[in-house]
Amino acid sequence: MSQSILFLAHVSEAGNTLPKVSYEVLGAALKLTKQLGAHLTIGLIGEDVAAAAETITAAGADRILAVTGPDFATARYASDAAAAEALCRSARADLIFAPATSRFMRVLPGVAHRLNGCVDTHVAALETVSGELCATRWHYRQRIEAVIRRDARPWIVLLESGCEAAWTGAPDAAKVEQIPVTLPKAATRTVVSGVRAPKSDAQTIKPDANLLFVAGAGWTKKQADGKTHVDQAEALILGFLHASGASLGGSKSLVDQTGESQTVLGFMTHLNQVGQTGSTPRHPKGLSTCCHGEEPHVVGWRFINERRAVNLDPNCGWARGKADVLYVADAFAVVEKLNALLAQRSRTNSEALPQGV
Ligand SMILES: Cc1cc2nc3c(=O)[nH]c(=O)nc-3n(C[C@H](O)[C@H](O)[C@H](O)COP(=O)(O)OP(=O)(O)OC[C@H]3O[C@@H](n4cnc5c(N)ncnc54)[C@H](O)[C@@H]3O)c2cc1C
Repeated sequence: MSQSILFLAHVSEAGNTLPKVSYEVLGAALKLTKQLGAHLTIGLIGEDVAAAAETITAAGADRILAVTGPDFATARYASDAAAAEALCRSARADLIFAPATSRFMRVLPGVAHRLNGCVDTHVAALETVSGELCATRWHYRQRIEAVIRRDARPWIVLLESGCEAAWTGAPDAAKVEQIPVTLPKAATRTVVSGVRAPKSDAQTIKPDANLLFVAGAGWTKKQADGKTHVDQAEALILGFLHASGASLGGSKSLVDQTGESQTVLGFMTHLNQVGQTGSTPRHPKGLSTCCHGEEPHVVGWRFINERRAVNLDPNCGWARGKADVLYVADAFAVVEKLNALLAQRSRTNSEALPQGV
């Protein structure tokens, strides 16, 4: 009998749309369904999944199942686990592919246990070898790559964002089968009473941005005139982020200054830190400024395809094969010039647009 694959997704809490990574996982699920000669079911969770189902109906899954209702609107372990378990059982799934969102990362390992199956998180690639599924993930801060095969079923795989091309198809009317889930009272005990999020202009981490802009400790160090220029550094970096739409990363030395009561960039937090003890973001391009490019930092650039750096020091780490291009230059001057060019380009573009656009 052919294997049963379930693509599992939840709608975003802000609206009834699917997060972008869901379409990437759907693309992978479709590819593997074909390669394994399997059949595909889609399982959706959320308050109302109708709009989301329409966006993926053209993928041609055998069935679209859903667990819906107000109880499933927000992330909550007990209700999400019950919903995911019901969908996996209804689909009789052998292989379950889901996006590695924080909501699913928290809940699907527990679901695997309930199903007497197994789970792998942080998977970065999926392929078939001799008709067998192989999942790839990194260990020890992207220094060791492991290829995993498993006999146990069901096998839940959480795929990271940015690893597969997003599936696209025209929206169409979708036939959705509701899977009833009755929650015990204890499962609804936790409620989301509100959301505290940083001000929108402080949201500097943008996983979908084309460019990662990294600021290093040099921005807060004494410059050629023997003085620090932190205010100017803040204005230049924020100006660049605003004009380019880049995501902001920081070196450990810079983000640690927050805890050491030094003059710091107000918008830089530990969440921005890139590297061995920070994050490993995925962006097509990266620009490092005032950062030395030491190995514990650069290991976080593993998934940045094209790397450039600006540093006054021609012997910095970037010069030793860690960047594609190193500009030996003053980052204050370079970013000021960049901001002026970006402002000029945006003026030219808006002048080129017809009236009213
Ligand atoms: C176990 C371990 C884990 C670590 N994990 C991480 C991690 O996750 N992430 C991380 O970042 N680091 C990490 N580190 C620390 C790392 O080794 C470096 O100490 C750190 O990255 C240095 O930060 P920096 O380059 O911003 O600062 P610095 O080393 O102080 O470099 C500042 C740079 O700015 C340049 N500069 C100054 N002014 C200008 C200017 N006007 N224009 C251009 N360039 C200028 C200087 O030439 C210099 O190269 C780790 C270290 C260890 C031991």
